[in-house]
Amino acid sequence: MTDLVIRGGTVVTSERSFRADVAITDGRIEAVGPDLPRAGSRTIEAGGMLVLPGCIDVHTHTRLPTEIEPDRFHRDSLAAAYGGTTTFLAFNNPGTGISPAGGRSLVAGMEEFRARTVGESAVDFGLSAVLSGDQPDSIAELPRLIEAGVPTFKAFMVYDFRLTDELLLAALRVTAQRGGMLQVHCENATVVDELVRRELAAGHLASRYHAVSRPSYAEAEATHRAIALARAADASVYIVHLSCADALAEVIAARARGWPVYAETCPHYLTLTDALYEAPEAEAITRLISPPLRSDSDRKALWLALAHGGLDLVASDHVPDRLAVEKRLPAPAFDRISNGAPGIETLLRVVYTEGVATGAISVEQMVGVLATTPAHLFGLSSKGAVEIGRDADLVLFDPRSRGRIEQAQLHHTSDFTPYEGRPSIGSVRDVLLRGEPVIRNGAAVPTTRRGVFVERSLSRS
Ligand SMILES: [Zn+2]
Repeated sequence: MTDLVIRGGTVVTSERSFRADVAITDGRIEAVGPDLPRAGSRTIEAGGMLVLPGCIDVHTHTRLPTEIEPDRFHRDSLAAAYGGTTTFLAFNNPGTGISPAGGRSLVAGMEEFRARTVGESAVDFGLSAVLSGDQPDSIAELPRLIEAGVPTFKAFMVYDFRLTDELLLAALRVTAQRGGMLQVHCENATVVDELVRRELAAGHLASRYHAVSRPSYAEAEATHRAIALARAADASVYIVHLSCADALAEVIAARARGWPVYAETCPHYLTLTDALYEAPEAEAITRLISPPLRSDSDRKALWLALAHGGLDLVASDHVPDRLAVEKRLPAPAFDRISNGAPGIETLLRVVYTEGVATGAISVEQMVGVLATTPAHLFGLSSKGAVEIGRDADLVLFDPRSRGRIEQAQLHHTSDFTPYEGRPSIGSVRDVLLRGEPVIRNGAAVPTTRRGVFVERSLSRS
C-alpha cells in the first residue's frame, strides 16, 4: 500500500514541469500522475509548491566530528537539509579533521571517514577521496576505493599537497581503466607561487591580493593541461569550481571535439564579483576563496554556459570557516588565511533567485544542474529525479516567498554567509529523505540522523 501521497504540486524534472501527485512507498517513488488514489495513506498538500528532486551537492568540505566539536558534521548536514539538499558528497582533505594516518592513505582515509560519520548525518552522503602528493601508495589504492563505492577523487594542481603532472596522469589512467573519475582543482602553481611572492615582497598582505595573485589565465592554463593529461590517459576528467570565461573556453573547446570533459561552477562565481575585494578587510576576507571571485563578464559567461552547455552542474564548495576562528582579524598575510566560504545551506535558494527568477536558466535546467546531472555524473543512480523507482528525496519549494539571506537564519557551522543581506526568492518548506520528513514547514523534525553513506558506482551511457 502507498505510504504517502504528495498532492497537487508542480513536479519539476530536468525536462518539463507538470501538475501531478507523487505517491511514495517504502521510501521510493511509486507513481507520478494526476489525482493518484490515496486511500489509507498519509497526504501532504503541495498546492502552489514546486516538487523538486532533492539537490545533490557534490562539492563540500564538511568537518568530521571531533571531541572538541562533536556536532559539526551533523549540523552542516542538517543545514544542507534546510537548504533543500538531500545528498552531499564530502572531501576528506587535510583540514576537514581527518587524522594524519587517514590523510596519508586513501584506504585508511575512507575507512576513517565512514567510521566517524555513522549516525551523524541528516541526509544521505558519500565521499570523494582526496589524492595528495603526501600519499605514498595513492595510485595503487585507487581500485580498492572504486570497488568500495568511492569512485570519484579530487586532485589539486596547486598548494603544497598538489600532484605532479606525472601523478595526475597516472591517476587518470587508473580511473579510466577501473571506472573512476578525477576531479581536478586547476590553477598553475608556478604562476600563483610567483605572484604570491611578488605581492608579499611589495608589502601587500590584505585579502584582495589573494585575488591579484590568482589570475584567470593561471586557471585556464591548468584547465587546458588537465584536459591534455586526460586525453593522454584516455580518461574523462571533471573540472571543479570553474570560475572564469578563459577556463570555460578550454572546456567548451574540448567538448566540441567530443572529449569527455565535465565541469562545475559554484554559486559564488555566479553571483559575486571581484569588486568585493575593494571592500574593507573584514568583508573582503569573507570572500577569500580559490579560485577567487572574478569579473562581472566572467559571471555572465558562466550563466550562459549553464543555460546553453559548457558547464554541467553547480555545487557549493562549502567550507565552514568562521570569522571567529579561521578568518579572524587581525589576519595574517593573505597566503596564510584559510581558503573557503560556506554555501551548503544556500545552494538552491541562490541558484533559484539569481538564475531562475532572473530568467538566466529555466526551472527545469535548475533541476538538471542541481540534481539530475550530479546524480548521473557521480553514480547516484537511485537519486536526482522525481521519477518512478527513484528514492523519494523530495523538496517542496515555495516559489512565491520573498526574503533575504541572513546569517541569523542559517543553521550551518559557519558564523557568516557570503550572501549576507542579498534578496532571495523562494523557500524550502518540506524536505523528505527516502519518503520520511527531515524538514517540515521550514523546521527540522526531531529525528534527523537518518542519513546513510551511499556507495556509488559510475556508469556512463
Ligand atoms: Zn573545494
